[in-house]
Amino acid sequence: MSKRTLNLSDKLYDYILEVSLREHSLFAELRAETNRMPEAAMQISPDQGQFMSLLTRLIGAKRVIEIGTFTGYSALCFAQALPDDGLVVCCDVSEDFTAIARRYWQRAGLHQKIELRLAPAGETIDAMLREGAAGSFDLAFIDADKENYDRYFEGCLELLRPGGVILVDNVLWGGSVIDPAADDPDTKAIRALNRKLAQHSEIDLSLLPIGDGLTLARKL
Ligand code: CA
Repeated sequence: MSKRTLNLSDKLYDYILEVSLREHSLFAELRAETNRMPEAAMQISPDQGQFMSLLTRLIGAKRVIEIGTFTGYSALCFAQALPDDGLVVCCDVSEDFTAIARRYWQRAGLHQKIELRLAPAGETIDAMLREGAAGSFDLAFIDADKENYDRYFEGCLELLRPGGVILVDNVLWGGSVIDPAADDPDTKAIRALNRKLAQHSEIDLSLLPIGDGLTLARKL
């Protein structure tokens, strides 16, 4: 027995999936297609996706903003958990990746709940704030270029209502956050945001060791 989070063996991880994963076959198909791509590692795990679906329902979210959409798996997870009048705003810069995403959103019949904004996410956030969207979102998921994480976090915090939640992905960055030899810009940006959030006065905080590390920040 340990008070710490277990370091999961492959077998134990498989067990978790076996006894808890309820993944629609279309979602599994998207994961399989994405897994054949060179950028496959950018995809979230299915257990993380299911957790984010559950969280969407737990907080009764109706409006979600996603920073970094890739091939659309996480957006599917949010959209399926939203009520019929819910909306996921997806920010990404890749036509190619999001073409795959759109194909699956359509097939899942969830495309009407998803709005794709193809532009640098920082610009989309600024435009939405100018349009008066501050305080209008329930949930944000940040999973894009790490160097801009701080900007995305502060922008999403403005977009959220009090009690809304920001999810920040890859906050353990494969363990490089504690590797003294790792001094690349991505690692530095993640470390800086983690330290900042530890002291941030406008949020409640929990860092979950799910996937590559997922921070939950609830806006006060
Ligand atoms: Ca990620």
